[in-house]
Amino acid sequence: MDIYTDVLVIGTGVSGLYSALNLREDLKITMISKGKIDQCNTALAQGGISVARGTNDIDLFVNDTLKAGSYKNDINAVKILAEESMENIDALCKMDFDFDRDNDELSYTREGAHSINRIVHYKDKTGKKLEETLLKQIPSRKNITIFENCTMLDILKKDNVCAGALCIKDDIQFNIHAKITIMAAGGIGGLFRNSTNQKILTADGVAVALKNNIKVKNLGYIQFHPTAFFNSNEHERKFLISESVRGEGGKLINCNGNRFVDELLPRDVVTKYIYEEEKNTHTSNVYLDVTFMEEEFLKNRFPTIYKKCLENGINISKEPIPVSPAQHYFMGGIEVDTFGKTSMENLFAFGECSCTGVHGANRLASNSLLEALVFSKRGTKKINKNISNIPMINIDSPSLNYDKKYYEDLNNKIFIESLVKERGDIKNELVNC
Ligand SMILES: Cc1cc2nc3c(=O)[nH]c(=O)nc-3n(C[C@H](O)[C@H](O)[C@H](O)COP(=O)(O)OP(=O)(O)OC[C@H]3O[C@@H](n4cnc5c(N)ncnc54)[C@H](O)[C@@H]3O)c2cc1C
Repeated sequence: MDIYTDVLVIGTGVSGLYSALNLREDLKITMISKGKIDQCNTALAQGGISVARGTNDIDLFVNDTLKAGSYKNDINAVKILAEESMENIDALCKMDFDFDRDNDELSYTREGAHSINRIVHYKDKTGKKLEETLLKQIPSRKNITIFENCTMLDILKKDNVCAGALCIKDDIQFNIHAKITIMAAGGIGGLFRNSTNQKILTADGVAVALKNNIKVKNLGYIQFHPTAFFNSNEHERKFLISESVRGEGGKLINCNGNRFVDELLPRDVVTKYIYEEEKNTHTSNVYLDVTFMEEEFLKNRFPTIYKKCLENGINISKEPIPVSPAQHYFMGGIEVDTFGKTSMENLFAFGECSCTGVHGANRLASNSLLEALVFSKRGTKKINKNISNIPMINIDSPSLNYDKKYYEDLNNKIFIESLVKERGDIKNELVNC
């Protein structure tokens, strides 16, 4: 049952969907998602999407991003991110994305390490709204077909040219042959004991890149979010208490009720202070206090967080929220240029599985959804222009003899070995390590 398509998109989060929607409508596009269509980190994003507040804000936005990233960022990519941010938010507005507004103007909030308010949002469910908005566009695009619960096990290639992917769905393995393949397979949190990520996201894109000698970059750059709801069960995904709660004035306090850090410092710095405070006070968590805010405001501005905490026995308007850091985001990934092009011909990578270099060593809050939008838009423009000259390479998959578990174990092993080589200190944070 091999499939032939112009473009194969691996992943149905923001980077996969936005790519598909920006590709030419005369191209046959096949998308796959490992789990259900919206089982992705995109749908979990709470805080929002950064955007420059006009051309006057570009330099400041670039500086904030560089500073948060410890100046390890690719400055050219950061400039592109800031310069092209506004047109992509406009594009979402044209798709009727229902951003929160103050009167008729977009409402901008602030998050850690941003100098000004420049985060557009939809309550505390920006990602869910974004996923829904993009998915709503798909039925009108008859050229796009999506297969759920379909896992990419490896890519197909001839020499250094990508020709699609080996996939499995309902225990049946088959090849999807494609002129262009887009890797939009997301992050790595599923490999960690404590992570805010979807458990199914296990670095598959990067592992397959490593296996096929495709260049990767900055594997050691992993972001731990300072404030995940504290829960000692390592089998459960950790629920995020968004940065925007601190942006709106939430205070971090220790078990004695004392503040110990400026809450709006970059994530890696706040995380470091929390770990130190937990160590000094011999506790496993600290607290995020919003009890001084009006309950109605909290219910309206943070409905998901309010509800989720209540389900866990905490009324956030009356008690501080127990929080501790958890793995959250992967700044490294498949090395790409500013059009998402990888070191393998006909293979692009967008979103969290890619490394454009915009985040440096530490991602500035709300820059991830923006990165996915900006670079997938740029990459698809290039694909639209060039695809007519790209032939279909029909090759047989050499590896149909192995089962799914073989590939999954191999991919996990390859990624973890490379990661631990760069970051021996996080070995204990990994599952099965
Ligand atoms: C709790 C939480 C809150 C966040 N809040 C924000 C925020 O407010 N602002 C912000 O900018 N960023 C935020 N982020 C980060 C941001 O959500 C992600 O980085 C971004 O959504 C990644 O998008 P993506 O398209 O690259 O990957 P995802 O949205 O994670 O999608 C990955 C896709 O790849 C598919 N896939 C993976 N492996 C395979 C495989 N082997 N075969 C087939 N398909 C596969 C998955 O099924 C999925 O469809 C948050 C992240 C989390 C976890």
